[in-house]
This record gives sequence, structure tokens and C-alpha cells, in this order.
Amino acid sequence: MSKIVLLGGDGIGPEVVAEAIRVLEVVNQRYGLGIDVEEHLIGGSAIDATGEPLPETTLKAAKNADAVLLGAVGGPKWDLLPMTSRPEKGLLKIRAGMNLFANLRPALLYPELASASSLKPDIVSGLDLLIVRELIGGIYFGEPRGIEGPPGQRVGFNTDRYSEPEIERIGRVAFDAANRRSKKLCSVDKANVLEVTVLWREVMMSLSPEYPEVELSHMYVDNAAMQLIKAPKQFDVMVTGNLFGDILSDAAAMLTGSIGMLPSASLNSDKQGLYEPCHGSAPDIAGRDLANPLATILSVAMMLHHSLNESKAALAINNAVKSVLSAGYRTQDIASGDSGEELVGCHAIGDAVVDLLSKG
Ligand code: NAD
Repeated sequence: MSKIVLLGGDGIGPEVVAEAIRVLEVVNQRYGLGIDVEEHLIGGSAIDATGEPLPETTLKAAKNADAVLLGAVGGPKWDLLPMTSRPEKGLLKIRAGMNLFANLRPALLYPELASASSLKPDIVSGLDLLIVRELIGGIYFGEPRGIEGPPGQRVGFNTDRYSEPEIERIGRVAFDAANRRSKKLCSVDKANVLEVTVLWREVMMSLSPEYPEVELSHMYVDNAAMQLIKAPKQFDVMVTGNLFGDILSDAAAMLTGSIGMLPSASLNSDKQGLYEPCHGSAPDIAGRDLANPLATILSVAMMLHHSLNESKAALAINNAVKSVLSAGYRTQDIASGDSGEELVGCHAIGDAVVDLLSKG
């Protein structure tokens, strides 16, 4: 029996998670997975109910589960709260609380969606890259941090900090991923300016002899941003720290046309994981059946593959999503207006995936 904790969150979070859960229920029955789902609160909805963005009961349940499926958190209702009690704090706390140091973000361009990308089809068609981002260290967590000093003279500061063991463990995840894919790994740093990334580069180089089949290269982050837009297919697996990974993975997301298509996995050393779409709570479209749930549905596939070792069921979901796109179903974010397309809402595209999976 596997236990999954479900965190709908805010905005479109509960809508996209509802579709993903229907998909999970179908494969649960079809493949006899024995999955048990338990729902909890996070983000703004948790603040409204309990005063906390991550209630203790949620963190406890998450730590005891095999995996967590999350929608998204945040929204204008909570934007004026102090930084320490905002919905997004719940997300940072659950990542740290579960020790989820490795964030995997695949950016895959489905051929059917080539025209949804803002880049020319020949630059992006066939794109299939994986960004491995360190998630619980670096400047987002480093101390000291703060804003100090008298009005008019205040200083804001953060600390970018990585230890050798922290770099080594994320490096191993990236080398292993590259080994399973096309054996090319690009480590992204700013070693010409930042000592923390000089150490990052040294550790990546020290791991390299253990993975003789993987070709390791290094790139400064400014060039990596440029190259991702200019010639993204040169990359297969990229590994980088928390801040650079946050920015580069969003840039990579846009290469694929819509953030509504991109799943992610955040893992700890026990393969326990938190799975979520890369997008936020999209308050502009919340409650209107306009959200694309495919990123969350694909996150379920990542969950089955990485945390539950159920690759067959994961593949069935990935194939069902491909078939739904081939059949022409499009939510508004991925519609190009071509004649073969049928514009549908969040629930209807979920229906299409569920139907396909039910029929096998
Ligand atoms: P966003 O990702 O929520 O939305 C950006 C744009 O993409 C919007 O136009 C939105 O309508 C569209 N979009 C996003 N997901 C979509 C989907 N599934 N289908 C169709 N269109 C989609 O980013 P934002 O507007 O910068 O942030 C909104 C809120 O979400 C903020 O409170 C922010 O802090 C929060 N946020 C949360 C997470 C998270 O929970 N992991 C991540 C990013 C932002």
C-alpha cells in the first residue's frame, strides 16, 4: 500500500489536482497499485483555516507519505502578509522539511505543440532536456540574510552558500540522470565571479571520473541563458544551484510553449518526493475551468516512476497525454487556432485522458 498526500493549495491548484487525481484513480485500479490518498492543507487556504501556510499536521503527513502531489500556492489575497507568513513560505518549508534537495524539471516539446513555442519550430522541435536544480540550499536559504540599517541607509543582504556534500549529492543525481539519457551533462555556474560556484565546479569535476560515460561540460549562467534561447537542443541534462535553476528552468519552460505542460519532481535521498506542476496558482484564470491540468497529470506520471517504482503506469499516463494532444484537444494556453484543434476546458481535457486510460 502506498500513501499519497494531496495538497490542492490555492487558485487553479485544486482544479488541476482534481483532474490529476481522477487520472491516478484510473491507473490505481487498472494496474492494482494499492494507492491510498489523503488530503491536507497548504498555502493560502491553510492560512485561512489555521493561520499557518504549512500546518504541522500537513508536514507530518507529508513526511510519512511515499509521495506528495501539490497544485500551487499563493494569490493576491495573501500578498500583503509579511514575507515569513506568506503562502509561498509553506512551499519552502515543506521542501526543507522533507529534505527535498533535488528538483527535476523536464522540458519536453510535444511535436503537436511546436507552434505554441515563441521560438521558431526548427530551433525547438524535438527538444527534450532535463534541468536538475538544487532546491534546499544556496541563496534562498543561506544565512545571514535580512534588511538592516536606518531609513534611507538600509542594506539588504543574502548569503549564497553550498557545502561540498550538498554539491556532491545533487551532482550525483544529475550524473545518474545523464547516464540514463544521452550522457551529456552541463553544469551551470558563475565561477568567474562567485567563490561558491568555484567550489561547485570543483566538486562537479571531482565526480566526473566516477561517470566515465558522461561527458561533463561547464557554462557560465549568463551564457547558459543565452544558449537556452539560441540553441536549446545542444543541452540534454543541466545541473545548477537553487537561484540559477529557478530562472533557467522557467526560461526552458517557455521554450515548450506553455508552463501548463511542465511537470516537476523534488526528491530526497529516500526517493520520497513532492510532485507539482511548474506553474503557479494563476489567479487570473482560477475558478473558470480554463487551466491546463496536463502538467499536474504528468507530475503524477513522474511520481509513479520516481517514488512508487510503477513505470508501466507512468508510461501509460504519458502516452495518454500524447494521444490527447494528437487528437487535437487543447486548453486555451496551448491552442494555436489551427483547424484540427478542439478548444476544451480543464475538466474536459482531464476527461479525455481518463477515457483513454480507462479503455487501455
Ligand atoms: P503563474 O504560473 O501562476 O501564472 C503565469 C501565467 O501563466 C498566467 O497568465 C496564468 O494564467 C498562466 N498559467 C499558469 N498555469 C497555467 C495553467 N495550468 N494553464 C493555463 N495557464 C496557466 O505565475 P504568477 O502569475 O507569477 O503567480 C501567481 C501566484 O502563484 C503568485 O501568488 C505566486 O507567488 C504563485 N506561484 C506559486 C508557485 C507554486 O506554487 N509552486 C509557483 C509560481 C508562482
